Amino acid sequence: MPDLAAPGLPVLGLDADDTLWENQVRFAAVEDNFCGLVAPWVEAEAARVALLDTGRAYIRHHGYGVNSFILSMVDTGIQLSAGSITADELGLILSWGHDLIDSPVELLPEVADTLAELADTHRLLLITKGNPTDQLKKVTDSGLAGHLWQVEVVAEKDPASYATVLERHGVDPTRFLMVGNSVRSDVLPVLAIGGRAVHVPHGLYSALEEADCPELDGFDVPVLDRLADLPGLLADWPGPARDDPA
Ligand SMILES: [Mg+2]
Repeated sequence: MPDLAAPGLPVLGLDADDTLWENQVRFAAVEDNFCGLVAPWVEAEAARVALLDTGRAYIRHHGYGVNSFILSMVDTGIQLSAGSITADELGLILSWGHDLIDSPVELLPEVADTLAELADTHRLLLITKGNPTDQLKKVTDSGLAGHLWQVEVVAEKDPASYATVLERHGVDPTRFLMVGNSVRSDVLPVLAIGGRAVHVPHGLYSALEEADCPELDGFDVPVLDRLADLPGLLADWPGPARDDPA
């Protein structure tokens, strides 16, 4: 077992949803169910646009995650049906929310072995956004908690929130490396505070996450097909997080 508190080890930031385990595919399936539910009133594409607009408003008030998603569907269903959606149908939407929260964590390929390997050489700092109760439950259910040095659930993954988290844990941003599937949330804000990032794309993205997101052309950001390639990359990629640990 590595000494998870070993101060000499560099700190490696890890995203959770769609980096360590499947997430968006579950939300996309529920969204498809929602489109079917409101099909008597609107076509699927119009339902998706309305749900996205409402979702943005709910995230501003309630944060990211399953709670905002469910509230958005309830509100959007009422709007699109002009109030004629039934109580049973609203109850069905709520049940989809419970199913999302209760569904088992599905690790992406080779994640468990990769984190076990990375934990020997790095202090692993998981940084995720969403509903804290849901996110922390997923960390526990994932079986990965024993490899993690710290877990942070933040309201937004922007430069300020990364800076706050790193300061709280005594990590110099210039020695910090973040790994995740989202350019918007895991790469750009870390570069903005002087850190480094590795992009591990996932095939499926929410419209909220990747809308209007710039390309990575011109940035020194490695792109990996799978997380299992990360230990090899870190061994061959000189940088302060590896060569000059805090
Ligand atoms: Mg993610």
